[in-house]
Amino acid sequence: MTFDPKPTASHFIDGAYVEDTSGTPIEVVYPATGEVIATVYAATKDVLDQAFDSATRAQAEWAKVSPRERGRVLTRAAQIMRERNRALSELETFDTGKPLQETLVADATSGADALEYFGGIANGLTGEHIPLGEDWVYTVREPLGVCAGIGAWNYPTQIVCWKTAPALACGNAMVFKPSETTPLSALKVAEILLEAGAPAGLFNVVQGLGEVGAALATDPRVAKVSLTGSAPTGKKVYAAAAGEMKHVTMELGGKSPMLVFDDASLEDAVGAAILGNFYSSGQICSNGTRVFVQKGLRARFVERMAERMKDAVLGDPMDEATNFGPLVSARQMEIVEGYIAKGVEEGARLVAGGERLDRDGFWITPALFDGVTDEMTIAREEIFGPVLSVLEFETEEEAIARANDTPYGLSAGVFTSDFTRAHRVIGQLRAGSCFINSYNDAPVEAPFGGVKGSGVGRENSKAAIQHYSQLKSVYVRMGAVEAPF
Ligand code: NAD
Repeated sequence: MTFDPKPTASHFIDGAYVEDTSGTPIEVVYPATGEVIATVYAATKDVLDQAFDSATRAQAEWAKVSPRERGRVLTRAAQIMRERNRALSELETFDTGKPLQETLVADATSGADALEYFGGIANGLTGEHIPLGEDWVYTVREPLGVCAGIGAWNYPTQIVCWKTAPALACGNAMVFKPSETTPLSALKVAEILLEAGAPAGLFNVVQGLGEVGAALATDPRVAKVSLTGSAPTGKKVYAAAAGEMKHVTMELGGKSPMLVFDDASLEDAVGAAILGNFYSSGQICSNGTRVFVQKGLRARFVERMAERMKDAVLGDPMDEATNFGPLVSARQMEIVEGYIAKGVEEGARLVAGGERLDRDGFWITPALFDGVTDEMTIAREEIFGPVLSVLEFETEEEAIARANDTPYGLSAGVFTSDFTRAHRVIGQLRAGSCFINSYNDAPVEAPFGGVKGSGVGRENSKAAIQHYSQLKSVYVRMGAVEAPF
């Protein structure tokens, strides 16, 4: 190990590390070897109270800070994150097992993009003036208050920043609970924000399992809950938040389609399917796991995919030549193995991969299934692992109908050289984040989020501002008030 990934303490509250070992211990495991690299303790009621007290205090002050100054803090934090990218990336690799080749370019860098973007637009957040003859209405964009963030384990640093940057830009405070599987990097983001000038208590990290998440979702001191997680958790958190009429953002799972037409560039479609199924060992919510390939191209697509999959390097994640890492946990590995077995059992053809490696850690080779049909379990359920299903189609109408036949609607992609068709098809796909001749790009400038069972709300872009602020409208009367009596 190049450095010791153990955190100073479990929680970060009111500008300092806080420990309370009376909480449930949570072991942090390095997925590449299965070694326990740290232990954190779930937040107790006392820890949560400290976090909410400090967040409430800091938020009241922060709301009075000029948006320009808020923006400067976020921009400075972005700069520090970029300067520390290597150390943050190594920590992310310890936490998630994702290869350093990925974490160096997709985690702290994406977090820094969000801090920089929302830092840049903070002072551009204005209300409206609505003329009504002599009278007028003006609107004020106000913060919500204390927001709670609950994270998943696949992109821990990115998730913290995608939620916290717009929240802070709008004048809110944040109490963030990382996934129990990856608790380390959020603490580093807390250090960085403090160093960048955020007041103590504005951003707090509390550790814990689902029950701590549930406590955040129901706490009356929380104005908004933003979850990144699975659809079943989303339903619970949405329902809990409704009890107090809290604002929500739900970034949930998916079973997204990628439609590859006969006239597509084969290399680009195969490359995008690799990115959209095997990057981060397939543990990406927006992955295009149902790859619908038109009849005339299907055989060549499968052949070329199998060929390119031979270039997957499953080595030490800290070695930058490694381009495919382990799954995040033993449990996730078992879930993925279960789905692969189910695919075979239900009659899909396992063309390549899908084998567990005989070594420590949670390693499965990327799996390619051909001959998958719509009703098979691997075509219906989110696997959240490196399992690509190829489904054959004949007509455009058929592909669209089958692609939409899912309770989810996070992403969708189309590969074709016919641009009229590309736009026509995208127009009919029910998904929030779509791609034409590309897959899984998530620039901070673009709204990100799902429709149907994949969630509500949008992260990133100007759209996120609406989800971390509320409008006050003020009617101004210039003349006398006319009352009936
Ligand atoms: P998960 O739903 O098991 O857990 C997510 C978070 O919710 C964790 O922090 C967990 O502790 C917490 N939690 C669990 N039960 C809770 C409850 N009852 N109340 C409040 N909080 C609770 O998800 P996961 O396994 O960590 O992550 C994988 C899932 O996340 C996949 O379904 C994936 O698609 C989804 N995901 C979505 C996005 C997106 O942006 N749409 C991004 C990444 C991951």
